[in-house]
Order: sequence, then C-alpha cells, then structure tokens
Amino acid sequence: MRDFSIARRRMVEGQVINRGVKDRRVIDAMLKVPRHKFVEEALEGQAYQDAPLPIGEKQTISQPYMVAVMSEALVLNGSETVLEVGTGSGYQAAVLALLADRVFSLERIPSLARRARKVLDECGFSKVNIRVADGTHGWQDMAPFDAIVVTAGAPEVPQDYLDQLTVGGRLIIPVGNRNDQILMRITRTGEQEYQEEQMLGCRFVPLIGNHGWQSKH
Ligand code: SAH
Repeated sequence: MRDFSIARRRMVEGQVINRGVKDRRVIDAMLKVPRHKFVEEALEGQAYQDAPLPIGEKQTISQPYMVAVMSEALVLNGSETVLEVGTGSGYQAAVLALLADRVFSLERIPSLARRARKVLDECGFSKVNIRVADGTHGWQDMAPFDAIVVTAGAPEVPQDYLDQLTVGGRLIIPVGNRNDQILMRITRTGEQEYQEEQMLGCRFVPLIGNHGWQSKH
C-alpha cells in the first residue's frame, strides 16, 4: 500500500496554510482524513492535487482549499450539530466529523450516498448520519443546526436553511448561476435577523431540487 501521508502534508501546507487558512482544528482534521480513500482507486494518485475530481454521476469531490475555507468559515469548536447538503464522496463530512459533535449529511443520488457510507465506516467516521433526500428542504427532524454547509451551487438561499439555524448559527452556501457562484456566509444574529457576508468566487456542481435548480434530463 502506498503511504499518502507525505502527499497529504504537502497538500495542507501548500494549498491550505499558505493560502491563509488559520484554524488549527481544520488544519489538523485535513492532515488526518485520508482523502485518497474518497476517490476511486484509479484517481488515488491525484487525490491530493489542487483540484476537484470526478466521483461519478457527474459529481465531484471539492478542491481541498474549498473544503478548508468552508470548514473554517463554519467556526466550529467541537460541540456543534452540523448539517451538510451534498454528501458526494463523504470527504467533507469526514472533516466535519473531526470538527463538530453531531454531523448530518443529505445526498440526492443513492449510489453516491451508499458509497460514502461505506468509505466513512471503513475510515472510522460512522458517527456521520447520511440520508438520501432532496436537501433543499434541510433536515427538519434534526434541526436546529449550529452550522449548515451546502456543497452545491444554489440559485438562491432556500428559506428552510435559514429557519433551521440556531440563533448564532452559520450557513455557508455558494449562490449564483449554474456555472459560477459566490460563497456566502449567513449568520443568524436574532430570531428574525440575519447577517450576510460574501466570501469568494467559486464553482460548484448545481444544487438540484425543489428549492434549487431543476435537473437537466
Ligand atoms: N461534499 C462533497 C461534494 C459533493 S458535490 C464531497 O466532499 O465530496 C455536491 C453533491 O451535492 C453531489 O453529490 C450532488 O449529488 C449533491 N446534491 C445536489 N443537489 C442536492 C440536493 N438537493 N440534495 C442533496 N444533495 C444534492
């Protein structure tokens, strides 16, 4: 078996720390999670490169830097209940498992959810709860969430996410058109008050569902 720990350290130093991510817990989590396990075997050798990679079903595992930025923006200390929308490979969920107390993740494509479940179990991240559903409604039964991270690009912010945040909770979501978006952080500052910050330009696969984009046939 190949030892990927050197590639992983290089990834974290070159792509995460050098680009300004400072949260020590995020850095440590990314040093721990074996990213190569979350891509198909033929792509293992590319798993630590500075890019997203295909995971099947026309979906991608996000670029490592994007995972770091989103994770840092959630401002987690280990006590939180977190919702991820878009399980995909399960990689972001594994990082979240090291950063928060409880992790819930929604995926609309059953085969991806199945594969993510398997890899997360094999890597010791069984505490991540995965459900196959249209995540544009959030996960009402498990709400409220201290943090919600959406890993697919939305045309606008679904109201359910805003409603399912605790007061003080943070929502990280890429908003824009199908090809490029702006990563937004929305903080619930009061029962009816929200504060919005634009973070950076990004390019995610579309969030498809009732309160997202329509699927293309
Ligand atoms: N966080 C993932 C990135 C996955 S890409 C990772 O670390 O690998 C985005 C994922 O969002 C895709 O798997 C896609 O199928 C899923 N997705 C898109 N729209 C969705 C929706 N409405 N509900 C749940 N998942 C959705």
